[in-house]
Amino acid sequence: QIETTDQQVDAFLRVDAEGAQAAAAKIDEQPIDVANLLAGMPIGIKDNLLTDGVITTAASKMLANFKPVFDATVVEKLKAKEAIMIGKTNLDEFAMGSSTETSAFKKTKNPWDLTKVPGGSSGGSAAAVASGEVVAALGTDTGGSIRQPAAFNGIVGIKPTYGRVSRWGAIAFASSLDQVGVFSRNVADNATVLEAISGHDEKDSTSANLPVPNYRAALNGDIKGMKIAVAKEYMAEGVEPGVKAQIEAAIETFKSLGATVDEVSLPHSQYAVQTYYIIASSEASSNLSRYDGIRYGYRSPEAKTLEEVYVKSRSEGFGDEVKRRIMLGTFALSSGFYDAYFKKAGQMRTLIIRDFEQVFADYDLVVGPTAPTTAFELGDKVTDPVTMYMNDILTIPANMAGLPAMSVPAGFADGMPVGLQIIGKAFDEETVYRAGYAFE
Ligand code: GLN
Repeated sequence: QIETTDQQVDAFLRVDAEGAQAAAAKIDEQPIDVANLLAGMPIGIKDNLLTDGVITTAASKMLANFKPVFDATVVEKLKAKEAIMIGKTNLDEFAMGSSTETSAFKKTKNPWDLTKVPGGSSGGSAAAVASGEVVAALGTDTGGSIRQPAAFNGIVGIKPTYGRVSRWGAIAFASSLDQVGVFSRNVADNATVLEAISGHDEKDSTSANLPVPNYRAALNGDIKGMKIAVAKEYMAEGVEPGVKAQIEAAIETFKSLGATVDEVSLPHSQYAVQTYYIIASSEASSNLSRYDGIRYGYRSPEAKTLEEVYVKSRSEGFGDEVKRRIMLGTFALSSGFYDAYFKKAGQMRTLIIRDFEQVFADYDLVVGPTAPTTAFELGDKVTDPVTMYMNDILTIPANMAGLPAMSVPAGFADGMPVGLQIIGKAFDEETVYRAGYAFE
């Protein structure tokens, strides 16, 4: 399927056919363990997750030849369950973007309409699942990078609670927000793969030491009496009428399944995008300081002095969007502006968290659209960063508060898929899955 489809979709940066075949052959030699649903499952891995011996680039020239010597914990866990790592999927450079167009290597297309973007930053993973190239794929979500491409591709994508899944071996973008999650075509597959990658990891100090529930057991179709909140801010002007109509239909479906649905307010979500771009860019500017042309990664062949090694390697190795974030973040953290920007953003983050706490005191879930629009045309927003940033307005709040959030397919608008976003309480992926399963 990859051979025939990927020439058009361009979801993969690298396919490890040999490695995948060797892993599959090994499984064939063993007795079948019927309890292990992952054995032999072909899985795509976003190219910002380290894979032992397989080049991992974060879609950046900076890491074009970087071959990790160990697996990310999530990859190690999948391999332990005998899932098959089939290849590395395209993304926005260092996961910075919403369309996968900032990749230094190729542009992934939306399999529903090849003139449109697959969303981002995990656009390759989403397109690979949507086009039937893999059963599931891993992505990362810092501000929406799993949910928005899941919505644009008509598939299921979950960002788990911050701390549920180890970030060890995930190339850092914004460490207080980054979380690894799963793409799949249905909720049951999603729950299966998330369960396999979840759990405490002593190599990630932010991973939570909590037992991992049996997510599949939550999929019983029963949501009677569930209390669902719809944030009015998530249904405001910027949301396209076609998208809004599908979400309103989804709300009726939840009611018909026996849930109660009320409108609530998350008043500070209007500041989420601004807050996010200060926090995420600040953390990125710090995380990306490791790419200095010395330790690893790209080194400019032109550099003659130490200063030139730094400046030329970073100037030539990073693309425009990454440089924009480094400049924004460095500015926001600088001593003269720290209080006005970074500190204030931290305060606003607390208010966003409190909004959710108040709603979750009375409700089980918050639902709304995943993105204000369906997939847009390739090239449409890439030269206009602020318009691109605004596409994440509905996904960013859950990252700010560290909450689990999933996008499930909710019909079409003008022929393109719409995503319904389901946000849950911290570490309550089960309720998110239960509602998503009942709905799909
Ligand atoms: N689109 C957002 C950004 O550009 C989110 C990216 C992500 O979640 N990795 O930062």
